[in-house]
Amino acid sequence: MAKLLKGSEAVATLEARIKEGIAQLSVKDITPTLAVVRVGERSDDISYERGICKRCAALGIEVRINAFETGISQEALLKSIEQLNRDDKIHGVLIFRPLPEHIDSRAVCLALSPEKDVDGITDGSLAGVFSGSGEGFAPCTPQACVEILDCFGIDPKGKRTVVVGRSLVVGKPVAMMLLARHATVSICHTRTVDLPARCREAEILVVAAGQAGAVGGDCFSPGQIVIDVGINFGEDGKMCGDVVFAEAEPVVEAITPVPGGVGAVTTQVLAEHVVQAAKRQS
Ligand code: NDP
Repeated sequence: MAKLLKGSEAVATLEARIKEGIAQLSVKDITPTLAVVRVGERSDDISYERGICKRCAALGIEVRINAFETGISQEALLKSIEQLNRDDKIHGVLIFRPLPEHIDSRAVCLALSPEKDVDGITDGSLAGVFSGSGEGFAPCTPQACVEILDCFGIDPKGKRTVVVGRSLVVGKPVAMMLLARHATVSICHTRTVDLPARCREAEILVVAAGQAGAVGGDCFSPGQIVIDVGINFGEDGKMCGDVVFAEAEPVVEAITPVPGGVGAVTTQVLAEHVVQAAKRQS
């Protein structure tokens, strides 16, 4: 039976860092504040928003929700981002994506002030991840993967590491962050030939394919560490990852559960970024 890499352990480690930062800020009478920008009423956005509000309230981080109707014009959305950039009471801004099709998502991301980009969506933050300069903030989900490895004392140095997925939101940045930690990284995608063989070679397997069951029984080998980033909902309404957990668990050494794995840590990483942003801006 595989060891479960539960997100709650990394959440607790991060909480100590967050509380220390909040204490330092309170001496200066600063309450770290996050603005959430949501266009429309997508159920996954609203559920993530609820989780953020709950977690931030428990930590002492203020959250301001900026909710807009789906039909908001690009100009009006850009104007609101500019207002948030100018508001010195707001330290971090999270923009839920995907945005509606009539909005140029890239223009909106680029309008955000880099120092408030707590989810690493601007070119500046991504350049920091790719160059290893540490500038800006890494996207929260890839960082959550790394926090879980750190928390359980799993050092990627020299390890054959396979990332399934090459999006700018998860796959590419997590690959770069693991490379920076000296892993030997391969990135797989829908055109990869013989994905199961590539996956079986991995000592660390990170799966961010966005498809339930994308990585199943023929992809695992003994001794592997599996990080399942996927969030999918089955026909029964139950949440599941991109990995077939029941087929991985008897074979691999350790695996993150879904729910209760990477997703749980992502919100905590976001909270830590807001505190760091407030410290940098104070
Ligand atoms: P995208 O759909 O943007 O990207 C998916 C990537 O996986 C693509 O590069 C695609 O390849 C590849 N892929 C898809 N299916 C397969 C397959 N069968 N075999 C090999 N490669 C495949 O998804 P995201 O990166 O945005 O998200 C990935 C997952 O992570 C989703 O389940 C999402 O819900 C979850 N997620 C979880 C978060 C969390 O906090 N835990 C936060 C953000 C996302 P190609 O490029 O060739 O199309």
